[in-house]
Amino acid sequence: MASSKSMIEAHAQVIENNFKECINSCFEGVLDVGQNLSEFSLLDNKDFVTTTESMMKGFIEMEKEMQHHIAALKDVRTLTSSEGIDVNFLAEFDKKLDHLKKSSENDYKSHPKYKELENFFMDVGSLEEQIAALRVKLTASSSNDDIEVTEVEINTKCPYTGQTIVFPVRNKHCGHVYDKAGITNYISSRKAKAKCPAVGCGNKNPITVDILEEHTDLKKYIQLVGKLERLKVNDNLDHSLDV
Ligand SMILES: [Zn+2]
Repeated sequence: MASSKSMIEAHAQVIENNFKECINSCFEGVLDVGQNLSEFSLLDNKDFVTTTESMMKGFIEMEKEMQHHIAALKDVRTLTSSEGIDVNFLAEFDKKLDHLKKSSENDYKSHPKYKELENFFMDVGSLEEQIAALRVKLTASSSNDDIEVTEVEINTKCPYTGQTIVFPVRNKHCGHVYDKAGITNYISSRKAKAKCPAVGCGNKNPITVDILEEHTDLKKYIQLVGKLERLKVNDNLDHSLDV
């Protein structure tokens, strides 16, 4: 028969694992909100920002509280015996918990998830500045070293569909970038015969879903350029209504 000690340990482990999974989805949810605020240029609204920050703070505190409970529980498990739980168990548990609470610092701002959230809230500059910065980054990663950055056209066309890429994925072998939906269709129709569709590509390996990776910089660039264009269209509409 399992001892109370090992049973407590096992239960504590189950609770800990479930809680970790649960709190991680809470963290991810708040980070999604933070990312959306940043991508949709809503950072001027301080209420949105502070609400998101306090949500994150709340989850970090919840995580710490749970960690304290589990640590206290694991700590006092030795007080149990084969006859069951000792009368001192609860008192000792409270004592441990109290000690853990008092000795831990309230440093939610140094929590990695909080820092990750704050990254979204840093001053990222205007839309034009963000696009310019990405242009530099995207140009540096291609081979046009001696061309003036502002003159380089960032290629956002898929070599397979010929259309503007919606969701860019990169071939890990040759570096060519395609639209995810287009290239996925191509792979499923050609199967093992699917090769990189970029003109003049020397990569003769079959192309599979496994060798495609999300091109995050280009994705961001496409999103921001699209946003800038929509803003310009709206601006023009406003002006035409003024006349
Ligand atoms: Zn290629």
